[in-house]
Amino acid sequence: RGAVLYGEDGREYLDLISSWWTCTHGHGHPALVRAIAAQAAQLDHVMFGGFTHPAAAALAGRLAALLPGGLERVFFSDNGSTAVEVALKMAYHYWRNRGDTARTRFLAFDGGYHGDTLGAMSVGRGCGYFTLYADIMCEVETVPFADTWEGDGEVEAREARALAALDRALEAGAAATAALIVEPLMQGAAGMRVCRPQFLRAVTERARAADILVIHDEVATGFGRTGTLFACEQAGVAPDIVCLAKGLTAGMLPMSVTVTRQDIFEAFRAPDFARALAHGHSFTANPTTCALALASLDLYGTEKTMDRIGAIARAHRAFLPELAAHPRVTRPRALGTMLAFDLKDDASGYKSAASVALRDRYLEMGLNIRPLGPSVYLLPPYCLTPEQLGRAHAGLIMGLDGLEG
Ligand SMILES: *Cc1c(COP(=O)(O)O)cnc(C)c1O
Repeated sequence: RGAVLYGEDGREYLDLISSWWTCTHGHGHPALVRAIAAQAAQLDHVMFGGFTHPAAAALAGRLAALLPGGLERVFFSDNGSTAVEVALKMAYHYWRNRGDTARTRFLAFDGGYHGDTLGAMSVGRGCGYFTLYADIMCEVETVPFADTWEGDGEVEAREARALAALDRALEAGAAATAALIVEPLMQGAAGMRVCRPQFLRAVTERARAADILVIHDEVATGFGRTGTLFACEQAGVAPDIVCLAKGLTAGMLPMSVTVTRQDIFEAFRAPDFARALAHGHSFTANPTTCALALASLDLYGTEKTMDRIGAIARAHRAFLPELAAHPRVTRPRALGTMLAFDLKDDASGYKSAASVALRDRYLEMGLNIRPLGPSVYLLPPYCLTPEQLGRAHAGLIMGLDGLEG
């Protein structure tokens, strides 16, 4: 219920990472449960080839109205990974439909994560989880991501180096590159690494200038996570293709969309089947899931969700100095509803023993916090009350105090 998970024994746990970043409005929200039940009773499912239905049409319209940059053509699929697969296929196929067959590569970022299917792993090769599969990946070049944190005095130099590397990659390979893909403002799985909006803007503009498509993977950042409905708004840029999932359905059922502009859509329209993006899943645009996504968007109005997000963001910022002063904390950072730090002197990676011990301590304290290796973070549901957030902040420090070594 809400931000609380109940264990088998009745114990309460605050879900401080929103069940892997999906649960936006809290668990068991009555309006969302009602929307699912009502749609399932009306029309459970219909194939989306040659058919459509009101929930899908309404959702596509709502998303088009909310997204910046003329992103208005909506392609439905099932999860964040498939949204990325669709984006990669769309970008590659777009160039072919324009008669350009040389664009067989993608550009991505060190630390970038885009999902667990083969194409998504390929562009996520820079996150280091997938080295075993390197031989069967598609061709991807990675460039540095200029992350930053509170009190970072070297961000400008880091950005300049990253942009210089991007310039070199574009100069050498743009003509063979279909698209650049980036997680806007925040790399999630890499450990909640954030960059400045000007870095995202510079990256997007440089790729554009080199005439390659730009894909923003807003699977984790979309729907308010970073303080604005979409992260790209803070940088004043819009991509050519955006991927949305996770918060799209408030963490209750799986669905995703890949959204692009009319001009890119037009490149696929022709009687010739080879020009069509012939990609479809069994449950494409499932009506029940679409109705849930619509009900979730409604809550942003009826519950003033962006105000709740603002309140969490302000509380995180007010807490940052205390967090930063802790001897075990390095690189403290906050962005929207996300608060994170790295464990000092812990280079042991994803299997960090200290971080596993910390996860267990937090669970004992009734806090579901699951560090990504040495990166410890909060990413709570937006319904978290000020009292619950205070408990989370105090608990973070208490857990660190008890950490040995
Ligand atoms: C979680 C995530 C994905 C993959 O989404 P799934 O629904 O788990 O397949 C892709 N990109 C980003 C940025 C993510 O955080």
